[in-house]
Amino acid sequence: MANISEIAQLGAPVLRLHAQMVTEPLSAQTRQIIETLQDTLATTQGVGIAAPQISVSKRIIIIASRPTSRYPSAPLMEPTVMINPAFQPLSETREKDWEGCLSVPGIRALVPRYTEILINYINQQNDLVEARLDGFVARVFQHEFDHLEGTVYLDRVEDNRDIFAESEYFKI
Ligand code: ZN
Repeated sequence: MANISEIAQLGAPVLRLHAQMVTEPLSAQTRQIIETLQDTLATTQGVGIAAPQISVSKRIIIIASRPTSRYPSAPLMEPTVMINPAFQPLSETREKDWEGCLSVPGIRALVPRYTEILINYINQQNDLVEARLDGFVARVFQHEFDHLEGTVYLDRVEDNRDIFAESEYFKI
């Protein structure tokens, strides 16, 4: 039985909260949240999702870079569930590239992100995992991490001229 949630849309208060740490990564409640995130993401063309987007203010994200109609050139990776994720940049270098968000339909914008980051998180087996990410996957991670801080990608746009309607974005 799939557990599909509606996606919280920009303006929903839950997207502006600082999400709570997960204290019991192995609990039935945590497993239920993860299943709903997985099932909901599978119904979309997105490459990541964060628990606040299903109106759950907990620090859980899924990174699932894959080529989709929304992101045709995204690299393919195994979908990864990350509980209580954290990161630090490995260099000060940031690059602007296009992002969209399931909570902000119809819009794309250029967002500066660190190009190389060191991350850690708790996996579904309650192990602490450390990894180095770069490029598109590092971008997706930072986008989803922002959702746990109550930040949406439009907050990071440096110039309103960098915001495009999706229909115009697909022309370029
Ligand atoms: Zn988003």
